Amino acid sequence: MLDKVVIANRGEIALRILRACRELGVKTVAAYSEADRNQKHVFLSDESVCIGPAASIDSYLNIPAVISAAEVTDAVAIHPGYGFLSENADFAERVEQSGFIFIGPRAETIRLMGDKVSAIKAMKQAGIPCVPGSDGPLGDDPVRLKKTAKEIGYPVIIKAAGGGGGRGMRVVHSEASLLKSITLTRSEAASAFGNDVVYMEKFLEHPRHIEIQILADEHGNVIYLGERDCSMQRRHQKVIEEAPAPGLDDATRKQIGERCVEACKKISYRGAGTFEFLYENGEFYFIEMNTRVQVEHPVTEMVTGVDIVKEQLHIASGETLNYKQEDIKIRGHAIECRLNAEDPKTFMPSPGTIEHYHPPGGFGIRVDTHVYQGYKVPPHYDSMIGKLIAHAETRELALARLSMALSEIVIDGIKTNIPLHQDLVKDRAFMEGGTDIHYLESKLGIK
Ligand code: ADP
Repeated sequence: MLDKVVIANRGEIALRILRACRELGVKTVAAYSEADRNQKHVFLSDESVCIGPAASIDSYLNIPAVISAAEVTDAVAIHPGYGFLSENADFAERVEQSGFIFIGPRAETIRLMGDKVSAIKAMKQAGIPCVPGSDGPLGDDPVRLKKTAKEIGYPVIIKAAGGGGGRGMRVVHSEASLLKSITLTRSEAASAFGNDVVYMEKFLEHPRHIEIQILADEHGNVIYLGERDCSMQRRHQKVIEEAPAPGLDDATRKQIGERCVEACKKISYRGAGTFEFLYENGEFYFIEMNTRVQVEHPVTEMVTGVDIVKEQLHIASGETLNYKQEDIKIRGHAIECRLNAEDPKTFMPSPGTIEHYHPPGGFGIRVDTHVYQGYKVPPHYDSMIGKLIAHAETRELALARLSMALSEIVIDGIKTNIPLHQDLVKDRAFMEGGTDIHYLESKLGIK
C-alpha cells in the first residue's frame, strides 16, 4: 500500500479521500489554499502544506505548487479528487515525471478522453454506441455545415471538444441560427477551454442521463459497478443522483456494463472511471467519459458495498482488484442530493458563516460534508458544501428516508438549496421515477 498521499483538493472530496487513506493506514498530506486553512481535512491530516492564495489558479490549479507539496513531505502519490487538476493530462504526466504516482489513469488516457472528439472516436471503435453527429470536428465551410446539420436532423447541439462542467454547449433548432451558434460556441470554447474545436450532435429531446461506473487495475482486470441515473439537472449540472436507474432491467445493465468493460480493456484503462450516456427509447448514446472519481460515487458505494476511493488507492499501489464481476450485486436503492450554498430560487451563490449545523442521521443515511458549525464557506470555489445520501431496500423507502433527513437537517447562516430538495423528493413525477434531463428546468419554468 502507498505510504503517504497528497490530497490535492478541498471540501467534501478531500475529506472523503482522507478517510479512505486513514482506513488503509496511509499517511496524508493536505495541500490547501490560504482560504482553506480551516478545512476539516486540513485539521485531520498527518501533515499539511499551504500551496498558495485563495484563487484556484494560484493554488489548486498550480501544478508546480502541488508537486512541491509532495516533494517537501516525501509523499509517494497524489490524489487529485474531482475538478481542479483531476482531468489534466499534463498534470498527470508531470506528477509521474517527478517520480510520484498519479492516482488515476495514465496521462495518455486522460488526454484521449479529455478531448470529446477523440473520446467519441475511440469509443465508436471500441463498440460503444454514440449520439448521431458530425464525424469529428466542424470545419468552416457554411454549405457543408448546413448539410451536416440537415443530415443529423434538427434540433442539433454544438459542443466544445474541450468542454466540461456543463459549459460550452448550444442547442440549434433551425438552419437560420446554425452558423451564428457555431461561431459563438467556438469563440466561447476558445476563451473558456483554450480550444476552439467544436462538434455537432443530434440534440436528444427526452433522454435520461445514465452512467456506468467502472474500476480497472493495471493487470487488465476490469469490472462495472452498475449504473447511476443523474437526470435531475439544472444547466447541465447534476442536482440529484441515484442508483440503480429506475426501470432499467438486469439484462440491459449487463449488456451496457460489459460493453464498457470491453472498451476499457481496449484502451488499457486504469483506475476508477465513468462512461456517461444519454438514454432514450431504450437506447444508450455515449457522450463522454470521466477519468476520475465522481461527485455521485456514493450512491454506487451504497448499493454495491464497494468503497470506490479505497479501490483507487489499491489500484494505484499496483494491486489487483479486490472484486470480480460476480461479486458485484446491486442491493436496494440509493439517492443523493447535492447540497449547495446557494439561494434555492435564484441559485445565486451564498457564501458565509454556518451559524448552526445539525446533520441528519439514522439507518441508511450518509452525509459527506466538510462543513461544521462556525465553518465559513469561502466565496472562491464551487458552491457545493456536501452531499446527503439515503439508502434503503427500495426506491420508495429511500425517498421516504431522504425526505425525513431533509426535514431534520439544519444549516443556518447561509442560504442552501435544501428547500429545493425538499420539494423535489415529493415531486410526483420524480417519485414515479424515470424523469428526463429537461424535467427540472421545465419544472422551474426555465424552459
Ligand atoms: P460536460 O462535460 O460539460 O458535463 P456532457 O457532454 O457530459 O458535458 O453533457 C452534459 C449534459 O448536457 C448531459 O448530461 C445532458 O444533459 C446535456 N447534453 C449533452 N449532449 C446532449 C445531446 N446530444 N442531447 C441532449 N442533451 C445533451
